[in-house]
Amino acid sequence: SVGRTVRWMQHVVGGGSARVTRAGSVFTPTLADVPADASTLSHGLLLRAGYARALAPGLHMLLPMGRRVLENVSGAVRAAMDGIDGNECTMPHLVPRELWEMSGRLLPQEADSEQGDEKEGSKGGGSEIFALEDRRGKTLVLAPTHEEVFTALVAAELDSYKSLPLRLYQIGTKYRDEIRPRFGLMRAREFVMKDMYTFDVDETAARETYATVTAAYTQLLVSLGLRPLMAAADTGNIGGSLSHEFHVMADVGEDAVLQCSGADDGCGYAANVEEAGGDMAARAAGAASVEHTVLAGKATYSLQLPSGIEVNRLRLTRVLESLGHNGLDGVDVAAAPSGAMPLEPVLASASLGWEDVASARAGDGCPCCEAGELVERRGIEVGHAFLLGTKYSSGMGAVVRVPTRDGGGLTAERPIEMGCYGIGVSRLMAAVQEVHGDKDGMRWPLALAPFVATLIVPPARKVAHSPELAARVARLEAALSVLGEGRVLVDDRDMSNGRKKREAALAGIPAAILVHSKAPERAEVHIRMVTSGGAAHDEVVVVHEDAA
Ligand code: ATP
Ligand code: MG
Ligand code: MG
Ligand code: MG
Repeated sequence: SVGRTVRWMQHVVGGGSARVTRAGSVFTPTLADVPADASTLSHGLLLRAGYARALAPGLHMLLPMGRRVLENVSGAVRAAMDGIDGNECTMPHLVPRELWEMSGRLLPQEADSEQGDEKEGSKGGGSEIFALEDRRGKTLVLAPTHEEVFTALVAAELDSYKSLPLRLYQIGTKYRDEIRPRFGLMRAREFVMKDMYTFDVDETAARETYATVTAAYTQLLVSLGLRPLMAAADTGNIGGSLSHEFHVMADVGEDAVLQCSGADDGCGYAANVEEAGGDMAARAAGAASVEHTVLAGKATYSLQLPSGIEVNRLRLTRVLESLGHNGLDGVDVAAAPSGAMPLEPVLASASLGWEDVASARAGDGCPCCEAGELVERRGIEVGHAFLLGTKYSSGMGAVVRVPTRDGGGLTAERPIEMGCYGIGVSRLMAAVQEVHGDKDGMRWPLALAPFVATLIVPPARKVAHSPELAARVARLEAALSVLGEGRVLVDDRDMSNGRKKREAALAGIPAAILVHSKAPERAEVHIRMVTSGGAAHDEVVVVHEDAA
């Protein structure tokens, strides 16, 4: 019955207050058709349902419906972080460049140097940094991530190990000059991220924190109706020792994740394609060798790879470029005998570890259990965890005094062990629709829906003509209002029921309750939502007044 549905929804969403929102008062410019510039399912739905509009590539205007969902995603993320003793802060988006020089992520700016001095491949990618100058000529970075800011705060405010552990986070706007902003909210130049930075006294404690935060991530994503895959990731130039990405599996995902497909759903191994390459190489470690030959006066190095290990050309190119070499120019990969690769001396002089360039792909044996085979799945990266170690804390003087072993009241300074943990809040919003939306519209878990229910009734002038209808509408409004302030929409706009139902489905409102003017004792209840188990639940039931 409507009453039972409402009580259950109230239980899920809390509820409590009594104001309903009139559909006509919510600015929702819907579109009849999928716009031509919609690149993915979620992008098309966000535009059609009037959730969002583009201002420029990678820059979005979130309209009231979209903003509501974004707030709900933020709320769910906030609750998860507060649940593990996270302290929420709000940090500036403009960050003095010197902080980035202090951490070593940007090289000191020279008098007339252009932007070309960023370190390659650092998290948040050097070339992705937006920077601007203030009136005094000082450069400010529009932060793509906030390690420096939080580390500077902790360096200034903490001196005893007794203040640890500390978990600080914020939910805020991030700026990245993405090479290819696309897919709507999924790859934007301005987007919302939750980023947490953790501070622990030693590595053991930092690893415990890592386990706690990653468990909270999994729980959060499951509660939002997703089935996240936690995949091992390479730590890259960020300098950490442990890293995992949280992926939502969808064909539009830009990341390749390799997963063990052995018996009983595999051994549980999952890694992004770069990390899997490293794992493949590590498994075969010892079998590689570098040969040095001099041919016609020219030194050549041959990298002998164990069979089954392929060279990841993209990675090799990046490594070569970071060494000032012109990519793979002069390195003839194709002509190399199988498993061997002639490399320029520059590689050897950089003491490049061949793990660095190994690659893995679907069909390879699982580097973990060796029994299963790897299968490739496409993932949307919605979260990322890094154990940072002391890279930022040592560079920026974030140290605490700890008692020395021999006691006697002596203390020593020790750099704090850090971790950083991101969730793409606005990307997550789109990812839920890549998984759960369809051509008819969005589908949300109750916790994220812009409104929990919409009561579709005839326009006021029609209701006024029938005391029976008016009483019925008033009773249903009162019954629904217990769902809480701003959670219930009353759609009394002057348009057809068909269109109102279509718009409710498009917006993914979990319950649309339709009362016909001809038979006010009947209500059609359309359920369209994602259950807590992550399944689509679509149902239409007709209920009568007595039952309601
Ligand atoms: P990607 O590989 O997709 O470029 P990233 O690895 O650069 O992401 P992180 O630095 O790990 O991103 O940032 C943490 C999270 O922020 C990501 O897991 C993702 O969910 C989100 N995110 C990153 N870049 C964007 C973007 N351009 N638009 C929206 N969300 C983003
Ligand atoms: Mg990126
Ligand atoms: Mg990534
Ligand atoms: Mg990442």
